[in-house]
Amino acid sequence: MIGSQDSVPLRLRGLGMRYGNGAWVLRGVDTTVPAGTTLAVLGPSGCGKSTLLRLVAGLETPGEGEVLLGDRPLSTPGSVVPPEHRGMGMVFQDYALWPHLRVRDIIGYGLRHGVHRTTAGERASRVAELVEFLRLGGLEERRPVELSGGQRQRVAIARALATRPRLLLFDEPLSNLDSRLRAEMREELALLLRRLGTTAVYVTHDVSEALALADRVLVLHGGRTVQDAPPEEVFASPVGGWVANLAGFSSRLVPEGVTVEGERATVTVAGVSFEGRHCGEDAGGATGPEVYLHPDAVRIDDGAGAVPAVVASSVFEGRHHRVRVRVGSAGTVLLHSSVPHRPGDRVGLRVEADGAVVFGGATDARPLGSAHAAQDDDRGTEEQHRDAVHR
Ligand code: ADP
Repeated sequence: MIGSQDSVPLRLRGLGMRYGNGAWVLRGVDTTVPAGTTLAVLGPSGCGKSTLLRLVAGLETPGEGEVLLGDRPLSTPGSVVPPEHRGMGMVFQDYALWPHLRVRDIIGYGLRHGVHRTTAGERASRVAELVEFLRLGGLEERRPVELSGGQRQRVAIARALATRPRLLLFDEPLSNLDSRLRAEMREELALLLRRLGTTAVYVTHDVSEALALADRVLVLHGGRTVQDAPPEEVFASPVGGWVANLAGFSSRLVPEGVTVEGERATVTVAGVSFEGRHCGEDAGGATGPEVYLHPDAVRIDDGAGAVPAVVASSVFEGRHHRVRVRVGSAGTVLLHSSVPHRPGDRVGLRVEADGAVVFGGATDARPLGSAHAAQDDDRGTEEQHRDAVHR
């Protein structure tokens, strides 16, 4: 048995935090992580993800609300069970491996010291079990400096599992790996979390990690929950433009008009209409209608009825060309193309219905050039939006 004997739910009730007497940096976070499942906490830098994790870990005291593991209160404003008594394991971004210790001793560290101390025999057999589980065979006598980034992170995971924690916390564990290794480790971690069946909280700003690993995604913005839903729902029905942006719908257009019929919206851009999914009003407070497009759902097609656009840039990225096109004053659109395009070329765009999410705009049609028209600068809307998210 690699994981803990019994899985327990983690509950956060009205959790809030402020540093010193400063402003609240986290407020009213309510969620339950069912036993044996993984919650990803997703959001841009500064939204409160680390603060949330530190509260769950017992490294901070909540200003309000509580953290419960099973029925046991771990943190309230009046009392905090210290980290070493919470039955949890943590995996950090920077691995936090002791440089002078060997892999075998790093993994067994928690079983040698403190509340989880065991006999040497028990320790050796647990370390051997974890070495096998995390494919670290043959590396037991190495020091961290003699390991690759992926191997270091597997050692950090083995160490976190050694004491059979009832709760696993991950703090952006893959962000120091290169993109190829990150994709591999993402798959490996997803499998591992399923096999372990341990309740886990996984903090990340990387939407592909959240979507791949989690049973549920809690999206934070400015210290508040803006969405708490299964990954498929975050992708299919983001609650606002900046969540859509996080979920990969990276281009924002300001349409001339939007007509809504149930979950379908017909959007008019540069005089041409196409369909998208209507996701209600933008929870982030955008006042006019907006449409967000996924780069994989837009293609260049010069046939009749395509949205007219002008190529702004085209960059070869190996698997495809990353092409940015300007659509009049509605904004710019990013797409992937198998062939290069020349800046200045006039092209047509075709948008797949599930690749467009639409906010706002009941039945009115607004004239172009109104207060909501996109800024006409040289940057793509992706960059503009990223700036807005990080402000
Ligand atoms: P994230 O992990 O999403 O980047 P954090 O939880 O680190 O966000 O930060 C949330 C907010 O709390 C930010 O505005 C940050 O500046 C503030 N903050 C974080 N740590 C401290 C601290 N030790 N003292 C004061 N403010 C802090």
